[in-house]
Amino acid sequence: MGGEGALVLYSGGQDSATCLAWALECYERVETIGFDYGQRHRVELECRTDLIAGLRAQFPAWLERLGQDHALRLDALAEISQTALTSDMEFRLAEDGLPNTFVPGRNLIFLTFAAALAYRRGLKRIVTGVCETDYSGYPDCRDDTIKAMQVALSLGLNRRLVLETPLMWRDKAQTWALAQRLGGEALVELIRVRSHSCYAGERTHEHAWGFGCGACPACDLRSVGWDKWRA
Ligand code: ZN
Repeated sequence: MGGEGALVLYSGGQDSATCLAWALECYERVETIGFDYGQRHRVELECRTDLIAGLRAQFPAWLERLGQDHALRLDALAEISQTALTSDMEFRLAEDGLPNTFVPGRNLIFLTFAAALAYRRGLKRIVTGVCETDYSGYPDCRDDTIKAMQVALSLGLNRRLVLETPLMWRDKAQTWALAQRLGGEALVELIRVRSHSCYAGERTHEHAWGFGCGACPACDLRSVGWDKWRA
């Protein structure tokens, strides 16, 4: 895929960590962007830097490619949304079937900021871990949404931008399999222990699939995917 650089939307979860490894395998120059929008659990942001440190320490082949990490504050996002991730509400499904963790249009906002940064940094590709397979509830993670955003951003910036979605059609089991293909058991173990998915922000209980409460929808998805992959 050549010498063009990529900017990875990297939150510190299993999906975006796998995307980061994928980008490091594909591109010679890789930078990361993460958003701080008042997430209820700061642990997410801590896992984020922890996992990058692990990649740097354990994968010397990727070290040269891994560039700057950009952490952007998006306080305005918390101001316009009252959701389970940013306030003290319990996780539940809303009447329209969307989890109340959903910040309307959040991913569109992330992609727009990422595109502006990619433009400034001279990076042609943006890599995001969105996926239709597991999360049918998030309309801004759909393949059609991403394709439309690629067109809108390329036109609006007057520069060709490519949005890469390596996980779009992979389920969680296939995402673990991809991690293994990219970095072997060492990468699987790094992602298992240092990435964070749990909506409850729980990091004291270790399971076969990593840390989490074991009861929220994110833990559920992660454990089912892990079991399926291990089987
Ligand atoms: Zn959980």
